[in-house]
Amino acid sequence: MSSVSVPTSQKVAIVASTGQKVQIKDHPVKSPEDLAPGECLLKMHCTGVCHTDLHAALGDWPVKPKVPLIGGHEGVGEIIAIGKDTEDCPVKVGQRVGVKWVAYSCRDCEFCRKGLEQNCEKVLLSGYTTDGTFSQYLVSFVHVVTPIPDNLESESAASILCAGVTVYRALKYSQTDPGDWIVIPGAGGGLGHLAVQYARYMGRRVIAIDGGEEKHKLCMSLGAEVWIDFTKSKDIVADIKKVTDGKGAHGAVVTTASSSGYTQAVDYLRDGGHLMAVGLPAEAKLDASIFFTVFKSITIHGSYVGNRQDALEAINIAATGAVKCHYKMKKLSEIESVYEDMAKGKIAGRIVLSMD
Ligand SMILES: [Zn+2]
Ligand SMILES: [Zn+2]
Repeated sequence: MSSVSVPTSQKVAIVASTGQKVQIKDHPVKSPEDLAPGECLLKMHCTGVCHTDLHAALGDWPVKPKVPLIGGHEGVGEIIAIGKDTEDCPVKVGQRVGVKWVAYSCRDCEFCRKGLEQNCEKVLLSGYTTDGTFSQYLVSFVHVVTPIPDNLESESAASILCAGVTVYRALKYSQTDPGDWIVIPGAGGGLGHLAVQYARYMGRRVIAIDGGEEKHKLCMSLGAEVWIDFTKSKDIVADIKKVTDGKGAHGAVVTTASSSGYTQAVDYLRDGGHLMAVGLPAEAKLDASIFFTVFKSITIHGSYVGNRQDALEAINIAATGAVKCHYKMKKLSEIESVYEDMAKGKIAGRIVLSMD
């Protein structure tokens, strides 16, 4: 369907087996003629690197990835071919689209019908159960890719497709209203700084928790109303109660890997409050007081990335300029050092890799 010349080989970042180093290798490109109906071939522009990619490479999650594995699940590329006999195709050749954690969902199982495409019985997860975006060319699915508006650069869109969608959905389902208080622990981090901006866009009042002067400045510049430095605060729960008329916050979007972040949230939420759990730490347990969860009518939600509609909304909000991801550009070939820095916790904001 396309006249674009497609090479037979490309560079990819691949992990031979879990725990081994990521390597740049030559890898075949699927020929456009071999695309199945519903598949599309993308020439990738860039991809974000997410903590999940490190978990995949290490294989330390309770759910195991495929190996060998090409990681990556927040990439943007251009459609250069679409499988022949594709029906009701919602995208076209030449269009820029995003690839997300959910690479494929069947749209037909109970979970898909309920809008929980991320829990689809036949789900394929980019860079986890199917090869992902750390590649120059990628086969994806016309019904699942996310169209990127012209006024949003590929590099700016990349991390919205994972981090942005994740925090946006958590806020959307937090059952809070405009004017309500939202607590964002880790507000200066990769997920957190996007959560602050989406929350502001949605008219929520933001209490940002993080540490250090640099993150303080960042959070306030993004529209946080209250800043709590966890390295200085003697009592975070009391600090939150003080700024919320003694009642506590209406919602919390907790991305942290530690149990204490969750325990604390049950204490600082007001009666009827909603705790949105979005982090995926390998081992931490949720340790909340059952008594107070019940007594205060607290709801605890596990909010897992988002469906196609959540992704479109998150991307379209970013395209208005209201939400900007803070990122640094690197090259795909530098991925090993990016993983090393990530493992040491040395990365501020997000890293986006270019494919050239
Ligand atoms: Zn991710
Ligand atoms: Zn399904």
